[in-house]
Parts: sequence; C-alpha cells; structure tokens
Amino acid sequence: MGGAPHPLRPLSSNPRPRVRFAPSPTGYLHIGGARTALFNWLFARRTGGVFILRIEDTDAERSTQASLQAILDSMHWLGLEWDEGPEVGGPHGPYTQTERKAIYRQYAEKLISSGAAYRCVCTKEQLDQQRKAAEAAKRPFRYPGTCRERKDIPVDVPHVVRFRMPATGETGFDDLVKGRIKVRNEELQDEIILRFDNLPLYNFGAVVDDVSMEITLVARGDDHVINTPRQVLMYQALGYPVPQFAHLPMILGADKTRLSKRHGAVSVLQYRDEGYEPQALLNYLARLGWSSGDQEIFTIAELIEKFDWSGCGHTAGVFNPTKLLWVNAEHMKRLTPAELAARVGARFAARGWNAGSQQRLERIAVVFRERAQTLQELEGAAKFLFERPAALDAAGVTKFLTPAIAPVLEELIAAIATAEPFSEAGLKPVFEAMLAKHNLKMVALAQACRLSITGGTVSPPIYDVMEILGREESLARLRHGAGTARGTA
Ligand code: GLU
Repeated sequence: MGGAPHPLRPLSSNPRPRVRFAPSPTGYLHIGGARTALFNWLFARRTGGVFILRIEDTDAERSTQASLQAILDSMHWLGLEWDEGPEVGGPHGPYTQTERKAIYRQYAEKLISSGAAYRCVCTKEQLDQQRKAAEAAKRPFRYPGTCRERKDIPVDVPHVVRFRMPATGETGFDDLVKGRIKVRNEELQDEIILRFDNLPLYNFGAVVDDVSMEITLVARGDDHVINTPRQVLMYQALGYPVPQFAHLPMILGADKTRLSKRHGAVSVLQYRDEGYEPQALLNYLARLGWSSGDQEIFTIAELIEKFDWSGCGHTAGVFNPTKLLWVNAEHMKRLTPAELAARVGARFAARGWNAGSQQRLERIAVVFRERAQTLQELEGAAKFLFERPAALDAAGVTKFLTPAIAPVLEELIAAIATAEPFSEAGLKPVFEAMLAKHNLKMVALAQACRLSITGGTVSPPIYDVMEILGREESLARLRHGAGTARGTA
C-alpha cells in the first residue's frame, strides 16, 4: 500500500462541472476513445468546467508504458488538453489507479464499517467448485453469500472485499443520452470490489475515483451502461451525490459491426501520421454521434459553443473514412498559406526535402492543396519536385511521348529557354504558339511535358509546376522526355 492517508472528501460545494476521461493504457487511443474524450472536453470547455485525465491501469498484464505514452501523445496532438491528470498534476492526485491503492482500501474500510461491504475469504478453489456445480445443474452461478454475514474476519487475514447488493427493489438513473435506465436489484450479485492486493475492480475503482475527484458528470461509451446501476449503489453507499451520466453509442464499421482494425485505421496517431488535421478528426468525430442542425464543418470554437448532450444521437454512428477525408480536405482549405506551409514544411523536412524560401514553400503548399485530401497525399504529389522520377509512367509514355511529339518538345525547349517570366504569363503564349504551329491540342503537349517533368499523368497545372520547379530543372527534364520520345533516352 503506497501513498499518504487520504482524507475522505466532503460533499463538494464547488459548482464547477468536473468531468473525466479514464482510458486504460492497454493499447493506442482509438477513434471511439477519442470521441469520448472530445465530448467530455467540449462539455468542460463550454461550461467553464474541469477536464480530468485519469489512467485506469489496474490490468497489470495488459497495461504498458508505451500505451500510456501513445494516449498522452494522441491527446496532445488532438489538442484535448486536460486540467488535472498525468504531467500536469492537480489537487486530487495521483491520477493513476495503481498509485491509489491506499485510497481504495480506505474507502473499502468505510463501506465495511457501514455494512455496505464485507470481507470475504472464500478461496478460488471453493468458488470454482461452486461454479462447476452451478454449471452441472444448468443454473447461472451466483456468489452464494458464504461470507456475507460473517463478522469474524480480521483485517490482517488476506481477504477480498465484496459489495453487498440489495436483494429487492430497483436501481436506476436518468441518462442524458439514453433516458431512464433501471435494473431489478435481484439481478445484481455481491461483487468483489477490492482484491487481496488492494487493487480495485473496475466498478469500485471508477466510483472511488469519481467520488474523490468530485466528478459531477460521467460521459463514456455505452458498453458501460451495464455497470452503471452497480456504480450508482456504490456512490450512494459512500454517501456522495450520484453524478449525471451520458452514455455514448458505439461507433460501428460500414458492416455494422463494432469498429475495429479490420475497418482500416482506428488509432489516432495513425491519422496524425497520415497527415490529417487534428481539428478535422475532431470535427468528424463530433458529428459522428452529435449534430447541430445540418452543419458539417465546425471550428473547434464552434463545437465548444454549440456542444450539448441533447444533440447526441441514441444510435450507433457508422464510421465513414470517405467522409472523414472530405472533412479533412475542407479543413485543409481553410488553413492560411502560412499555416499550411508550416505543416507541409515539417513533413518535407522529415524526408530531407528542402523547399528553399518560405515563399516557395507556401506556393507549393497552396498549389498542391487543390488536389490533396491529406498532407500525406500532398506530400506524395509533390515528391517529384525534390526527387527526379525514377521512371516515367509506361502507359503514359506509350500514349503521349511518341516519336511524333519529339520535334515539338525540342522546339518548345528552345523557346522556353528564354521565355520571360518563367511562369504562366510567359509560358502560356509559347505553348499556344506551338499548338497553333503544329496543329496540336493542349492535352497532347501538356501531357508530354507533365510526363517528362513529373513522371506521371496527373499534377497541378503544368505552368505552375514548371514555375515551381524552375527553368533549369524543367528544361533538363523536358530534354530527357524528348529523348524518351525519340527513343534515344
Ligand atoms: N477504463 C474504462 C474504459 O476504458 C473507463 C470507463 C469509465 O469511463 O468509467 O472503458
């Protein structure tokens, strides 16, 4: 047992809403977790409340430091900064469950004293035997209450602590998303809340943390609805006001099964690496399960202003990667050239690409943004600026770099060697003169140039591409293209 004795917290008189996101560090932060975090964060920011991050790491086998780091990195990247929790601390710490064992023991003892919980020394062997007997008799196993009425188990004998569930009546709560939810208490059984080693089981750990961190509203995935009545009984047994609840419907894949890796990227950091805008991912996730009229594109400020539990849907949202791409492109369009250049520049630098001046970087960013839905796509499309194409697209060569175009290209090369300025204004008249003279269509000449310069058949407008690439490099690549057309390159 670590940590100093923790005073049981008195009922809060603090009217500020306090919400928490409580991930288990057993894997990366996925899309569903990010949405839960987002809704809590939006609510806190909207109401002037406090957003707490706490780490539910009692599953020692599956919890890892790497997962914790991935969660923290994801939250930072998304901009979902927390007011209390790991890294920032706060008055209700520690914020990691394995560091709070003394606190759980203290709350468990409080429940034992009031009779709401009891020590249990049933061994695993006894319980296994009872479970087998129940299976053989084809009835569901329930803890038979062996230790329920015992008062003779001393604190220093290894024991677990069980919560005494009421035998009759109902327990319910009004969910902000799902409405009234209730269960018959006879369906609940005395569950273990604290293990031999003072680590809490999920329900009790969550409740003690919520109580001691003065949580006023719990928003989480609706896979936890089944746990909530038991937690309600625990808040009540501890004498604390039951928080409000908002259970968020699951996110499904296109095949209507729960979203998983099979449906593509589900890790937040993967979206970062693929060049999505954090605001775009947040915008998309907000709309997946919440709406405000038929507005699709929101700034973060607008989300904060408009977010409301009543806008949350009751049914599961279906994750649509194509729509996410569209939302991302919309957010990319709204970036200023300088903002976009900063992102693009960082990605270029990681590949050892130097765009030269800030002005040139901004030009590249803005020209290539037109055809890219993510920064990764933009980067892929701009690659030819920094690395000469290793080979020209073979089908394109057959179609556009024919022997017939070779003399035209050679004439064009001679003419643009001195064209001024080396941009659309100076290049367009040269191209047009060439088309007229040889009775050619623009597509034939533009594609021959595009293939020579970019290696492919799709790129931003050819004049922009040539201007960005510069006269010398453009001419060198066109010469190589002309050679290819003649069959001599
Ligand atoms: N650690 C739980 C989860 O990841 C949190 C549940 C809760 O918010 O109470 O699902």
